[in-house]
Amino acid sequence: MKYNFGAGPCILPQVVFQEAAAGVLDFNGLSILEVSHRHKDFVAVMDEAIALTKEALGVPDGYSVTFVQGGATLGFTIAALNMMRERKTAGYINTGTWATGAIKEAQKVGVDVNVFASSEHKNFTYIPKNYSIPEGLDYLHFTSNNTIYGTQFHAFPSTDLPLVCDMSSDIFSKQINVADFDLIYAGAQKNLGPAGATLYVVKDEVLGKSSSPFLPTYLDLKQHVEKESMMNTPPVFSVYVAMLNLRDLIAHGGVSAMEQRNNAKAALLYDEIDRNSQFKGAVATEDRSKMNATFLLNDETRAADFDALWKGAGIVGLPGHRSVGGYRASLYNALPIESVKVLVDVMKEFERKA
Ligand SMILES: *Cc1c(COP(=O)(O)O)cnc(C)c1O
Repeated sequence: MKYNFGAGPCILPQVVFQEAAAGVLDFNGLSILEVSHRHKDFVAVMDEAIALTKEALGVPDGYSVTFVQGGATLGFTIAALNMMRERKTAGYINTGTWATGAIKEAQKVGVDVNVFASSEHKNFTYIPKNYSIPEGLDYLHFTSNNTIYGTQFHAFPSTDLPLVCDMSSDIFSKQINVADFDLIYAGAQKNLGPAGATLYVVKDEVLGKSSSPFLPTYLDLKQHVEKESMMNTPPVFSVYVAMLNLRDLIAHGGVSAMEQRNNAKAALLYDEIDRNSQFKGAVATEDRSKMNATFLLNDETRAADFDALWKGAGIVGLPGHRSVGGYRASLYNALPIESVKVLVDVMKEFERKA
C-alpha cells in the first residue's frame, strides 16, 4: 500500500483506475485505446465528459467546454492568442513558475504584458493583494493555485476586465463562479485524469475575437468548440478517464462535498505543521494552498531521518519541487484523508525521536 502525495500526474480514485483498466481491455468489444474517436461510442464519452464538466462546475449558459491536447503549457499560448484584442496589452499576476511561463508565452505571441502584481521578490511565498489594476488591458491572467510553491488565491481578483485563469491544480477542488471568468483552462493530470487533455471553459462571446495576425487553426478555441472537441484525434484515453472520474465526483456529492473533504484534509495537515516543533510552513499562512501543502524542517540536518521515516511508512511523492526543496504534500481530490493521517502520524513520530 502506497500513499501518493505526488503533485502531478497524481492520484485518482481507485475505482476510476479499475474502470479505466477494464476499458483498456473491453470497451464495447474493443479496447478504448483502439476505438475510432468518430465511433458513436466514443462520441458519447466526449459528450458525457463535457456535460459532466458543466454539471460539476455549474457552467452557465453562454459558455462552452472543450478538451484540447497539449497540456496547460500550450494553454499559456492558447489563452494569449484567443484573448488578445486590438490593444494587445494584458495584465498578469506573477505568483510562480507557471504564472511566469504564461507571461513568457504571451509575450512570444505579441502581447505587451504588464505584470502589475508579483510575489517574485519574496520567492513566491505569498499571493499579492493590494495592487491597482492598470487601465487599457485586454484581459487579466492569474494562476489560481501555485502547485510548486503551495500558495492559492482564496479570493479572486476583482475586476471588470475579462478574467483568464490557469486552474490546472485546483479545478474541481472547490466551488467557483464560472460567470466571473471569460476563460478557464486546466491540464487534466492534477484533478481530472491522466495527462493528455487540457480542459477549456470559455465564454462564447470571446470566441473568434482574437486580434492576432497569426492564429493557427489548432490554437483557435472557436474551432475546437464548433467541432465539439473532435477537430482532430482527441486524447481519447485521457478524456475517457476524466469522464469516469467526473462520474465518480458527482456520485460522491460533486464539488461542494469535495470542497468540504479537501478543507478537512488541509486543516488536519496544516494544524500538525503548526503544532509540531520540527516543522514550519513554507508560505504566508493566509495564502496556504489546500491542494499543495509545502513545509520545511526547522533543523535541516534531520532531513535524512525524516525521509527514512516517511518512506518507511509507504509514503511517496513528498519531496518539494526540485526548484524549491523542502516538502510538498499534494492533497488532490482523490487523496483520502486516511493518507493525511498516515503522514501526520509520521510527523508526530519524528518529533518524538528528536
Ligand atoms: C502542472 C501545471 C502546469 C503545466 O501543465 P502541463 O500540462 O504539464 O503543461 C501549468 N499550470 C499549473 C498551475 C500547473 O499546476
